[in-house]
Amino acid sequence: MKILNHGHLILEDSMGDDLTIVNAARQSFNQRSDEMGEKEKGLINFLMRERHGTPFEMPTFRFNIKCPITVAREWQRHRIGSYNEVSGRYKKLDPEFYLPDLKDMRTQVGKPGNYSFESLPIEDAKRFQELLAVFYHDATTLYERLLDEGLAKEVARSILPVGIYTQFTWNVNLRALLNFISLRSHPTAMLEIRKYSNGIEEIIKEIVPVTWECFEKHERVCP
Ligand SMILES: Cc1cc2nc3c(=O)[nH]c(=O)nc-3n(C[C@H](O)[C@H](O)[C@H](O)COP(=O)(O)OP(=O)(O)OC[C@H]3O[C@@H](n4cnc5c(N)ncnc54)[C@H](O)[C@@H]3O)c2cc1C
Repeated sequence: MKILNHGHLILEDSMGDDLTIVNAARQSFNQRSDEMGEKEKGLINFLMRERHGTPFEMPTFRFNIKCPITVAREWQRHRIGSYNEVSGRYKKLDPEFYLPDLKDMRTQVGKPGNYSFESLPIEDAKRFQELLAVFYHDATTLYERLLDEGLAKEVARSILPVGIYTQFTWNVNLRALLNFISLRSHPTAMLEIRKYSNGIEEIIKEIVPVTWECFEKHERVCP
């Protein structure tokens, strides 16, 4: 899935589905189900409603994510999950930067705790987009010059702006993923991370459709 101007979201692998959750819960009685029927759907609804969360920890997902550092910084506050990220110490970073679409150039109004973001007049949006592009170009030129003149990558990277793209692998269980979606698809979350979170929704609703339906029904509260 392409996200933003250079980003992506790839589901590399996943383990488990709705039945995995049912059977994790049934472990209490040492019983198993072999297929999803009405009883099994009812059980998932019960687990979600009563916030019996641990059976939702059994399915896991591994994503590859390419996003601006600003997004990764928010993303990696989610501690329940495992991460491996590209290293600017070892690899020369590609000159790929987040340039928002004109419609996503916005202004912030309101007070802390009650901000809203409003679109800008098109001339302002264009001007800001150009200013960002010029700065990204200048930062890249300086980065390359510092490397050419012998400065170590781990030091030279200091002059790169946080709009640069990074890439990481994220392994996460379904419960932590629902917590991520609950927080990061919410209208108060930053637009850019919301786009990734919305993409994750599209992917996982195909894999755990019953869980997804119950999550929506119970107001997207993480179990
Ligand atoms: C709109 C928005 C604005 C934000 N603004 C800020 C900000 O200004 N500054 C800032 O620092 N952060 C901010 N955050 C980040 C936020 O505080 C969380 O760090 C982030 O959303 C991760 O959530 P989490 O802890 O639930 O997820 P995870 O770290 O994945 O944890 C999942 C769950 O595990 C449990 N858990 C994990 N670790 C612990 C622990 N140590 N102790 C007890 N229980 C634990 C909790 O139940 C938690 O909900 C913001 C987040 C959002 C969505």
